Amino acid sequence: MLCLRNVEYSQNGRRILHSINMTFREGMSYSILGPNGAGKSTIARILMGELRPTSGQVLLDGEDVTGLNVTERAKRGISMAWQEPARYDGITVRNYLTLGGKLKIGEDEIREVLELVGLPYELYAHRFVDKSLSGGERKRVELASLLLLKPRYAILDEPDSGLDITAGKLIEVILDRFRKCGTTVILITHHEGIALKTDFAYFVCGGRIVRKGFSQEVVDYYRKTCRRCSFAEG
Ligand code: ADP
Ligand code: MG
Repeated sequence: MLCLRNVEYSQNGRRILHSINMTFREGMSYSILGPNGAGKSTIARILMGELRPTSGQVLLDGEDVTGLNVTERAKRGISMAWQEPARYDGITVRNYLTLGGKLKIGEDEIREVLELVGLPYELYAHRFVDKSLSGGERKRVELASLLLLKPRYAILDEPDSGLDITAGKLIEVILDRFRKCGTTVILITHHEGIALKTDFAYFVCGGRIVRKGFSQEVVDYYRKTCRRCSFAEG
């Protein structure tokens, strides 16, 4: 179980997160839903260890991991697909997916996962993970990488942004695959249609949790309140 306990975060004297409490249980899928600027990516970066909370704790199976960095958390099974994934010159998709050969996976599985994210193996396995890939293709590679890694916790920051209209279906397929391998998914989105695909949801706005529960209930509430709120950018 991964938890945020009373997490607060301030930057330059401005409070970005107010006492955030979240629990992510084994094998379940969660969304963190909210408008732009709500604090979603800040929560993701704190879960991943890229940012330290100003106060509060990150707990993994009851152990305080607040002081661990990204690499140390990755070793414990927490992985993230970033909102804007980096590009790397000279590294092929295949090499990237196998962590330069460190991840022992068969060619069949690489092929299967690439096809699953909509990147035919023949066309993409030997391409470079550099500027020649479009933003959407790069995001698909990132999702494939997490599917092959099978982490205990997969944090997906706006996985649907930059993808075309097939994104909804793709997210469903990805959630299904993660569920089968027991990965807990934490999916960040500002699209309620995407949030509906997870088991549970947290609706975050203005750095606070406004509502939590089954995704359907949270999305219903979000639809009723969020569009009329002054925080929403429309
Ligand atoms: P979301 O992912 O929900 O769109 P973020 O977590 O990225 O929101 O940002 C939450 C708030 O914190 C926003 O108002 C944003 O402008 C602010 N913020 C994020 N990073 C920084 C930073 N490095 N410096 C100042 N403000 C920041
Ligand atoms: Mg964000």
